[in-house]
Amino acid sequence: MGESIFEIDPDLCTECKGHYEKPTCQSVCPISKCIIVDPDNVETEDELLEKFVIIQGLA
Ligand code: SF4
Repeated sequence: MGESIFEIDPDLCTECKGHYEKPTCQSVCPISKCIIVDPDNVETEDELLEKFVIIQGLA
């Protein structure tokens, strides 16, 4: 939880790569286009998958 809204930690978000086809938070959020990709934290699929491997302790 941030100061007034929930915030996604870009160091821990893999856009669900390695788990699901689409970002789960976007899929389940009832408000359309509420959760968007942060233009200051755009990552390639390879970078996201690398982060997934590190977070899961598979490296
Ligand atoms: S549900 Fe997936 S896309 Fe959404 S914050 Fe978590 S890891 Fe990122």
